[in-house]
Amino acid sequence: MTNRSILAASNSSSHSRLPASRDTSKSSSPLTVASQLTTARATLWDPKYTHKEPPQLRLQPTHVGTLTTGNRTDSNISVRSLGGGQKVDSMDKRHPSSFQQLEKLGEGTYATVFKGRNGQTGQFVALKEIHLDSEEGTPSTAIREISLMKELKHENIVSLYDVIHTENKLMLVFEYMDKDLKKYMDSYQNPNGGNRGALDAPTIKSFMWQLLRGIAFCHENRVLHRDLKPQNLLINAQGQLKLGDFGLARAFGIPVNTFSNEVVTLWYRAPDVLLGSRTYNTSIDIWSAGCIMAEMFTGRPLFPGTTNEDQLLKIFRLMGTPSERSWPGISSFPEYKQTWPVYATQELRAILPQVDSLGLQLLGQLLQLRPEMRCSAQQALAHPWFAELNARSQQAAQGGFTQQVQGMTVGQQRAY
Ligand code: AMP
Repeated sequence: MTNRSILAASNSSSHSRLPASRDTSKSSSPLTVASQLTTARATLWDPKYTHKEPPQLRLQPTHVGTLTTGNRTDSNISVRSLGGGQKVDSMDKRHPSSFQQLEKLGEGTYATVFKGRNGQTGQFVALKEIHLDSEEGTPSTAIREISLMKELKHENIVSLYDVIHTENKLMLVFEYMDKDLKKYMDSYQNPNGGNRGALDAPTIKSFMWQLLRGIAFCHENRVLHRDLKPQNLLINAQGQLKLGDFGLARAFGIPVNTFSNEVVTLWYRAPDVLLGSRTYNTSIDIWSAGCIMAEMFTGRPLFPGTTNEDQLLKIFRLMGTPSERSWPGISSFPEYKQTWPVYATQELRAILPQVDSLGLQLLGQLLQLRPEMRCSAQQALAHPWFAELNARSQQAAQGGFTQQVQGMTVGQQRAY
């Protein structure tokens, strides 16, 4: 099955045949979420959406431990690791004191992130500390994150090394990354001048290539990120970019009609989600990638909307106001308004004169109003804009040096 047919399939009405379930992100108990996750093998793989073989043929189930919350034990949470047959260490063996906690790196919705040092190896790590509410127990977000991150092993995805659970907190031990893309852009001095925060062209190409590789891997494994934004893209001193924060990601298998449409941060949110679609799919991550690409060129968010309506209008001002003629079915969306001002479509070139024509062509394929018109991550990676990187990657793979392709460009080095 091609990527396009995967997208087509995921857009089709077959979603309605998926088992009914409720959105658990806010209201359901951790136990409800846990019981859904233990059936992840069934829900993560569905022949309707992927050409890949069912994971159970290749993956060894790996019990990573037991999550205990207060006086309850959710002992059936088991997480599989991808291939290789490596055993994942039990969560219970580690103790937070194995790590020296250093400075605070940032705050997420549920967690505070600290830099840490492994007491035994001296290796730096990022410690994501989630305080557990004794009433609520382990947050469902964290359980999802653990399950997904443990499975998603890829060089463009932040590795989750370990999970330590104590009575009142859950500590996720991640690979340490130097900065997120937002901080990176804020501190970047473009040697060619240009706007503050704007990156140079080779750096943008390298970051986009890595971002799309990470996204393609998630989508192949039927996982949506759903919250891609510069703060969630992490950069290390070698110039590698990795997708982080899967706190909001969710496997495809969870029925689409229960997806909350309040997940993707407003500025990077796809128009179909803003219109109230509940049948969104991989294409929402592609829209976010397009917004991030434009932002790296200008140093400013492409669509900095303040409300749902304002966000839509900012998008329409550039892409043109859609109608039933340009987007059949648009008037059935819950947020559709007949009173929208009618904007004409602008040329991307006019607002992004600094982007070369191949880059603009790719950007145009990422930023399509209609989700089914957006290219897939795999298709984007095959775009001629990446021809040189793909050729280098192929050569490096033949020589066994895949990491070298993700090495720093001269521009990237300037941010360190
Ligand atoms: P999060 O809760 O994942 O959104 O993280 C909040 C902030 O902490 C991010 O915007 C980053 O600046 C920082 N951060 C998260 N994960 C890491 C990591 N693995 N390495 C370094 N910094 C991180």
